[in-house]
Amino acid sequence: MQSVGGTRSILAVPALMVFQTATLLSQSVVAPGATRAVAIYTKFLEPPSGVSVEHLKAEMDAILGPALRLEWYSLDQANGQDVKADIVVVKFQGTCGSNAQSPPLRRGGPLGWTNVVDGEILPFAGVNCDRIRELMEGNLAASTDTERDQMFGRAMARVLAHEMYHFLAKTARHAVDGVAKARYSATDLAGPCLRFEEDQLRQVRTSQFQHVSKAHHDAGAPAGGG
Ligand SMILES: [Zn+2]
Repeated sequence: MQSVGGTRSILAVPALMVFQTATLLSQSVVAPGATRAVAIYTKFLEPPSGVSVEHLKAEMDAILGPALRLEWYSLDQANGQDVKADIVVVKFQGTCGSNAQSPPLRRGGPLGWTNVVDGEILPFAGVNCDRIRELMEGNLAASTDTERDQMFGRAMARVLAHEMYHFLAKTARHAVDGVAKARYSATDLAGPCLRFEEDQLRQVRTSQFQHVSKAHHDAGAPAGGG
């Protein structure tokens, strides 16, 4: 996921996170006509705004609800429980709060990323909250506290939904418009509505899950971008 004017970067998943996640993988079988379930394991490197996280979840349901049933778990509390869903692990970097008093860091770079190893898209995604804050600086500054929390939660969801699309639809390609397009503007992040186009939603709904083998995870150091 790039922002307009951004650059692609290659980021690796920490080996510890990869190792932890190996114990979480489960097989699931989606019966014809059943709603596909996905368990999202989150890791915030800094404590997020609770209100923004609630808006994140609500927006994810609005974007992916027509295709998926989402379950949320903290990666820190994962204990190898048997989850009857397919799993995506997402790491949120930076300050995931909407406080306009915090100056943007001007780091540039991607809004999010998905890990790829040997051409295989893995269920490990990242969201760069500092980059989101930077891109939305003007929108956040012009909003009330309540509006900022909602706006920031929605923006995190749009970046995460984009990265999950790559894994769920098993494609590195982008759409012309909607959540799956290659580049986001501040308006895409801060605007009232951004959804998948019907083709991309159908891909998410109908593609078969690729079950990642434990050997892949134990090999460590996957890297990729997109
Ligand atoms: Zn992408």
